[in-house]
Amino acid sequence: MNEIVENIYKNRNISFEELKAVFDFSEEEREELFSKARQVSINSFGKNIYLRGLVEISSFCKNDCFYCGIRKSNGRAERYRLSEEVISECCRIGRSLGFYTFVLQGGEDEYFTDEVMERIVGRIKRECPDCAVTLSLGERSAESYKRLFEASADRYLLRHETADENHYKKLHPGYMSLKNRKECLYNLKNIGYQTGCGIMAGSPFQTVECIYEDIKFMQDLQPHMIGIGPYITHKDTPFKDFKSGSVKDTLVLLSVLRLIFPKVLLPATTALGTLDPMGREKGILAGANVLMPNLSPVGVRKKYSLYDNKICMGEEAAECNVCLRNRIKRIGYRVANCRGDYGVKY
Ligand code: SAH
Repeated sequence: MNEIVENIYKNRNISFEELKAVFDFSEEEREELFSKARQVSINSFGKNIYLRGLVEISSFCKNDCFYCGIRKSNGRAERYRLSEEVISECCRIGRSLGFYTFVLQGGEDEYFTDEVMERIVGRIKRECPDCAVTLSLGERSAESYKRLFEASADRYLLRHETADENHYKKLHPGYMSLKNRKECLYNLKNIGYQTGCGIMAGSPFQTVECIYEDIKFMQDLQPHMIGIGPYITHKDTPFKDFKSGSVKDTLVLLSVLRLIFPKVLLPATTALGTLDPMGREKGILAGANVLMPNLSPVGVRKKYSLYDNKICMGEEAAECNVCLRNRIKRIGYRVANCRGDYGVKY
């Protein structure tokens, strides 16, 4: 067995030198890394894949992240927001398709106040009582996170995007801060949410040093979920001339994280499936154990355009469901019929 892979596995840790080395691995070494990560994932979850139905509730955003297609300053972005009724319907359809988790994600849209979100979360929980609700609505006050948790939201996804101060400044306008982002994540965890952080692999100006900082931050936060997808260029952003990240580096990073965090919930993202038609399968075979099919109404999908060429734009939820289940089956895995909470034995 490759010595570096063995070390990461045994120590559940990685040195800066080792991190540099894994990104320069030969194809053969990479296969060893993926295979070990896959083994660790199977050891934690069996061959179960957890599905999270994604409902993209709004493309309005008051923020201006330089990489994101729905940033405030993108005058070409078409804006929409889903009504309470439609959000609840998406979840009911999801439940009928066998999903046990719904992720409500959106730009930072001030329409979705605490009152509105409490009502939406409460309604989903009433209509689908055996399902988990995950929120991914960006930065809010500790008070707000607390209210939504009390309204019975279970989980929260907030990618930290980068744990390197200088890198953070290069990706975001001056009024946003890494300090606040991290504080939000610690607040979420303290309140009791199953909490997810994460980064884009290959974002502009990212270095191995940045990723090393990310891993140290994650070791401190101890998240329940880690969202990793490749950065993909969007043509109407200030980063339009930067290259997208690579499938290879994303897979390497997924594997490394699987070795360091054997029990963490790790999605093979839509962004990975966008860069490579087999990207999500490759992600699972590199240690991921979650997929997030899109449950948004087909009519709005194109408008939730974080990056160019996003996949699954035309398919109804039911079609996405069949397609993904087949993909999972073809690589020898199965869909778990449960919420898939962190730490629950499969
Ligand atoms: N407003 C919410 C949701 C943001 S969208 C929040 O702030 O958390 C969810 C994730 O999509 C972001 O955290 C970011 O990591 C990712 N994303 C945004 N633009 C992207 C791009 N161009 N390529 C790949 N991923 C992107």
